[in-house]
Amino acid sequence: MAGDLVFAPLGGVGEIGMNLSIYGLGDQRRRTWLAVDLGVSFASEEHLPGVDLILPDIRFLIEERKNIAGLVLTHAHEDHFGAILDLWPQLKIPIYATPFTAALLEAKQKSEPGAPEVPVKVVPLGGRFSVGPFDIELVSVAHSIPESNALIIRTPHGNVLHTGDWKIDPTPVIGLPTDETRLRALGQEGTLAFVGDSTNAVRGGRSPSEAEVARTLGELIKSSPARVAVTTFASNVGRIKAVVDAAAAAGREVVVVGRAMERVIQVARETGYLDEAREFRGIDVYGYLPPDKVVALCTGSQGEPRAALARIAQDEHPEVTLARGDRVIFSSRTIPGNEKAVGRVVNGLIEQGVEVITDRTHLVHVSGHPRVAEMEEMLGWVKPKILIPVHGEALHLAEHAAIGRRLGIEQVVVCRNGDLVQLAPGRAGIVDELPAGRVYKDGRLLVPAEGKTVTERRRLSFAGFVTVALAISDKGVLATDPEIEMVGVPELGADGDRLAEIVHDAVMETIETLPKPRRRDPDEVAESIRRAVRSALANAWGKKPICYVHVLVV
Ligand SMILES: [Zn+2]
Ligand SMILES: [Zn+2]
Repeated sequence: MAGDLVFAPLGGVGEIGMNLSIYGLGDQRRRTWLAVDLGVSFASEEHLPGVDLILPDIRFLIEERKNIAGLVLTHAHEDHFGAILDLWPQLKIPIYATPFTAALLEAKQKSEPGAPEVPVKVVPLGGRFSVGPFDIELVSVAHSIPESNALIIRTPHGNVLHTGDWKIDPTPVIGLPTDETRLRALGQEGTLAFVGDSTNAVRGGRSPSEAEVARTLGELIKSSPARVAVTTFASNVGRIKAVVDAAAAAGREVVVVGRAMERVIQVARETGYLDEAREFRGIDVYGYLPPDKVVALCTGSQGEPRAALARIAQDEHPEVTLARGDRVIFSSRTIPGNEKAVGRVVNGLIEQGVEVITDRTHLVHVSGHPRVAEMEEMLGWVKPKILIPVHGEALHLAEHAAIGRRLGIEQVVVCRNGDLVQLAPGRAGIVDELPAGRVYKDGRLLVPAEGKTVTERRRLSFAGFVTVALAISDKGVLATDPEIEMVGVPELGADGDRLAEIVHDAVMETIETLPKPRRRDPDEVAESIRRAVRSALANAWGKKPICYVHVLVV
């Protein structure tokens, strides 16, 4: 058997988000690659001002484009498929996905003006197909979106199970439970490596079932005296179905509020997931329905300021309002980094007299990722020789590794984005490093994370900026009064002096004290003024803004 089998994460390891993994077959100089998932991370406004999304740096894939046999998507969560529309045009490789994932990608493309049309080869659930030299079998796993798949990747060197996101839920509200039979069969056949979800490796026991959440939602909707609004992740079709069923049982109509939710529902209906659910009502009837006859299903569980629930909480939604005695259920978890935004929405609702129910007090949300007992059970079925924890921050990866060692798995390899791990032949280990990193989506552009754009923007947001423009004669005499503009700088100092005045004095003083010959050099003048202005403001204010000085010689 020639060559080797390697694995490398290019995103999603050491962090939660922007998953991208590659597998390589062949010898060191000429490998054929299989890519799995191509996701994004979301940027927090405070840390990365103006950045919409974080994407993996795909330099390596672009270089190896001709040797990539294809990209297989495990499921349609943004952290697994959110970067396709932005990055595929640089790769143009074949993409494989199951019907729901393919349909959601298409719907997303249609809703984004200018997004490229991406051809997708649709493969059935449980399907088996070849991607170049890789023999792929999809295994259904329960998660928090329809059609989550683990991949069995069969190669001449052995079988790999790439789990994707999964949990063991014998009673998911929608879709198939985790296919224990196939996974046990793989264990019998032999598993070389297990590349698995570490998200909840720090949580003991088992994750409750979606069916339990559905029961709680049923009770809470039934017992509501007035209007109910439920917010959840738009892609959680099982949860949407639970709300629809609960509403039907309570004799209420469901009104969908928010475009992202409408889009997912449309796709779910087209792919047969909300078939039996009754018609959703248009937002226009919301105001006419009696309070105890309606459930509003809203986007905005993460406090997104433009989403439906935030606007309702600020009483700014054109059609949907809530009032004292109404109930809002957050059927979601607040993703770290969104606490303040969610807090603003919750407080806005409470100010309106609305009762807010979250997963702190009621079982209105469960994670779609496995806890420790589920991970142990899965590893027991699959019996891998090698365990590679992925999909997690450092702590999650370390805990996942510890579980593997405890179960006696021979080789546990903890790696990071960019590490090239040799899986076979021989003992598994990190053998090389590939270029990896992140890029930011900034407006319509992709900018390198290590560039200065966002760093500068952060500095601007902290201390603003000052520009000074002045004209100087070739004899070194000031031709006009300098022009000073300040943005984001306070007007008055502590003793009431105008900061603009302080800057003006610093400029004049610098010119006067500069020896004549040096005054004729515009660069020298500019640099001296820049330093003087920053130090004068540091004295008066305690901050040094960015300062630009333009010197014109007349
Ligand atoms: Zn997921
Ligand atoms: Zn994920």
